[in-house]
Amino acid sequence: MNFKTFSLHPAVAEGATEAGYITPTPIQEKAIPEVLKGHDVMGLAQTGTGKTAAFVLPILNRLINGPRNQVGALIIAPTRELAEQIHGEIKTLGRQTRLRSAVVYGGVGINPQIQDLKRADIVVACPGRLLDHIGRRTVDLSRLDVLVIDEADQMFDMGFFPDIRRILSHVPSKKRQTLLFSATMPKEIRRLANDVLRNPITVQIGITAPADTVSHALFPVAQHLKTALLIKLLGNTQTGSVLVFTRTKHRAKSLGEKLSKAGYRSTSLQGNLSQGRRQAALNGFRSGEYQILVATDIAARGIDVSNVSHVINYDIPSTPEAYIHRIGRTGRAERSGDAFTLVTKEDTQMVRAINGAIGSCVEQRTLSDFNYDAPLVSHGNKNQASANRPRPVVQRRAPKPRTNNQSSKGAFAFLSPKNTKPSDRRSNP
Ligand code: AMP
Repeated sequence: MNFKTFSLHPAVAEGATEAGYITPTPIQEKAIPEVLKGHDVMGLAQTGTGKTAAFVLPILNRLINGPRNQVGALIIAPTRELAEQIHGEIKTLGRQTRLRSAVVYGGVGINPQIQDLKRADIVVACPGRLLDHIGRRTVDLSRLDVLVIDEADQMFDMGFFPDIRRILSHVPSKKRQTLLFSATMPKEIRRLANDVLRNPITVQIGITAPADTVSHALFPVAQHLKTALLIKLLGNTQTGSVLVFTRTKHRAKSLGEKLSKAGYRSTSLQGNLSQGRRQAALNGFRSGEYQILVATDIAARGIDVSNVSHVINYDIPSTPEAYIHRIGRTGRAERSGDAFTLVTKEDTQMVRAINGAIGSCVEQRTLSDFNYDAPLVSHGNKNQASANRPRPVVQRRAPKPRTNNQSSKGAFAFLSPKNTKPSDRRSNP
């Protein structure tokens, strides 16, 4: 199958070609024909599956012959990064259509957005700032044809549903086509879907299973040895761009600094940064200036960097859905990627939940040349055990042969021995 099958307007089809898309991804194959027919669609797909183009291409196709300078499509996204990513995809795919997209989110000046909105055909927005524009009457949604609610489950987690419902009261309901995308389908999303979608077609792409281009591994370790293990892991593994997740903003910042000290080109992305610095961190990661980006879940939502070879969960995520979201950042669009998760004894239950969600037992690995029994050092750097203190990495070392060095102590006590494998064979071919 190729994009010609959809009989898109030549200018829209040209956008897909310019973006380098040759074969539609499974979600595009299923969703595009339904959206083109004008159906409401409930898309159950995780990020990384090509879902953005699955709604952007039909929207461009619908608006290309319509009136200009009025908002025909509104896409609501939970974070600035995702909004920017969608806006970027519209610009790429819509280059030949001359349709204009405007992106609106908080944390930056409102006046440039007001100017952009005056001529916009498509608006990509985060809920809060959009309501601000609605209140100021700087956006007119009365002639909206298509509404997209993207990453609805994240939107719910972030407490945006009351805002979404307020926005809904400002958009026409009669002729509107509505598309709702979510990686998971908890009851709150089902309820929203019942309220906003009319006779929807459900398109589902592996709701709980992560992209099968990703291979997963757990690395059991004591909490105080996490940084040392991560640095060892990075030194032993051939990686491209690496995205590391931490639980808190503070941990993201301090880990980013530690990795820099250890000789890695690394930066961090967390909610305390100004929009300018967030964008600089993201751009630097995209361009390869930084090899490692340490981020929190919220900050990383919507990050689309196509060459992420490894996602490393420095802290295990708090839900299986968040795990799926995180690892959706690697193995994107048919590329392969690795997802490593550092786990402590306290994470046993979450490991079980993740295994349940992805329908298999994630393999456990150990590093042969790492001292898993190094004690916590009480003075100096509290989080760093001296026996594993990293030396600055100047050049990537050739991977060493490994043996199964499973320990029965400390963080390993909760592991099932038969499920523990030597480290990282796949990444060190
Ligand atoms: P998304 O799930 O929309 O975030 O898309 C994930 C990545 O896949 C993005 O980098 C897209 O540019 C890319 N992509 C989307 N559709 C295709 C396609 N048909 N062929 C190749 N890459 C694609």
